[in-house]
Amino acid sequence: MTVYVVGLDGADWSLLRPWAEEGHLPAFARILDEGASGDLESTLPPVTFPAWKCYSTGKTPGKLGVYEWFAYDRDANEISANDASDFRSREYWDVLADRGVRAGVVNMPTTHPPESDDGVFVVAGSPATEREAFTSPRSLKSDLLDAIPDYRVKPDLVLDEATPDELVSEARDLFEQRFEAATWLADEKDCELVHTTLFATDTLQHRLWDRPEKLRAAYERVDELLADLLDREDAEAVFLMSDHGFTEIDEIFLVNQWLLERGDLAVEESETRDLLASVGLTEERLKRLVGKLGLVNLAQSLIPESAQRFFPSESGRVAIQDADIDWSRTKAVSLGRGPLYVNRRAFPDEEAAQSYADELAADLEALDTPAGDPVAAAVHDPADVYTGERARGPDLLVEYATGVDAPEAIGGGVFGETTEWLATHRRTGVFAAWGENVAAGNNDLDLYDLAPTILHYLGAPVPEDADGEVRRDVLTGEPADREVEDGPPTATDAAGRGAGDEVEETLRELGYME
Ligand SMILES: [Zn+2]
Repeated sequence: MTVYVVGLDGADWSLLRPWAEEGHLPAFARILDEGASGDLESTLPPVTFPAWKCYSTGKTPGKLGVYEWFAYDRDANEISANDASDFRSREYWDVLADRGVRAGVVNMPTTHPPESDDGVFVVAGSPATEREAFTSPRSLKSDLLDAIPDYRVKPDLVLDEATPDELVSEARDLFEQRFEAATWLADEKDCELVHTTLFATDTLQHRLWDRPEKLRAAYERVDELLADLLDREDAEAVFLMSDHGFTEIDEIFLVNQWLLERGDLAVEESETRDLLASVGLTEERLKRLVGKLGLVNLAQSLIPESAQRFFPSESGRVAIQDADIDWSRTKAVSLGRGPLYVNRRAFPDEEAAQSYADELAADLEALDTPAGDPVAAAVHDPADVYTGERARGPDLLVEYATGVDAPEAIGGGVFGETTEWLATHRRTGVFAAWGENVAAGNNDLDLYDLAPTILHYLGAPVPEDADGEVRRDVLTGEPADREVEDGPPTATDAAGRGAGDEVEETLRELGYME
């Protein structure tokens, strides 16, 4: 028998519940009716990186040492992309493998470059690419492609150029491949726990929030695949979860532009970028040309990353990671949607740096959008939110108000910019469970509770350094009565294998960078 976990990147009950009630998503409706379901509170920031690893480890980013797609190296004053090797913890399927329970993981973001213990089969997710090894063990790739010849890690489309129908059709194909890979791991590799992530849900929701009928068409395919999964004889239980929820963007706040205009952040003008813009060669134009020719991968191999970085965006915005930051004149920088880092070297001592951080927090807390609404719901001391050592952690953690999107780009106005994204993440995601020994009812969980709960359900010990709890209220029968077994901690040292450049390139294609 197998426990299936279906991860829906960015899924939100505000979409799914009404569709289930109206009869459009009968398998979701069945799970809601017969199983446990509720909200799933994600981490801060509620971002794909690190949220998936918060799920798979049951720990806050403070113990993982990863807070966003990017990391800030305080000593070197460098910004680099995080990858799988930067997370300082084993995952719950490693604990299962220790017990001889084989596990499979399909398409989970944060799993590239793939590496796994014996008994864990990983088909890496974004930002893996087909160009490289994308499975662990490595031999799994050819077995998988023999069984599912058209399996693709990434969409074939240039996202910015695709029509809504093309995006939906591509997503429906990818969903099918993710489910196929999941059941293949159960059937052929004897996995008793299989996790599969559907990532295109996130991509579609960012871009097509104003076309709910298109989003629904994508989820209807998920529902059909889910129905088949529920009907499988080996399906002992099916868990549904998302890494975060989704909400419409009310306002875009360019936090680094705000820092720049205060004089707290300084960047060098890029002559190369200005020159390229003056001859009309922008990143968008390049992408369009390449998209028309269908040569995405070829172009990537022809144009070195170092040159790609210098293509200006038509909007005039530049990702902060691509900007030439003058650290001698920079006091603070924000990476991603929340973490803010203070450049210690810009201050004579720790006290001065701390008082600057306090001042920045107060100013952000008092800041309003042009419509008069607060930009931030709260500005946290990371020590109040994160457990553990908080290695590589930020100095401030901004919890943006729901509907405020705060990309890390500079260029343009502090407020009022638009992007191809119509919707962004919110903290409340989805949880549901169905199957043997799952209690029917409403239960709100923390993202951190899933790993302990699934481990306990499968009769395995719960790592003593997990932050989440076994939620016996979603269980019934023997697992609900059984005492929780404490297991050894799963903390590790980060190995830092450094696939950063490839990661960055893929993020750019996915539209995560300007
Ligand atoms: Zn996500």
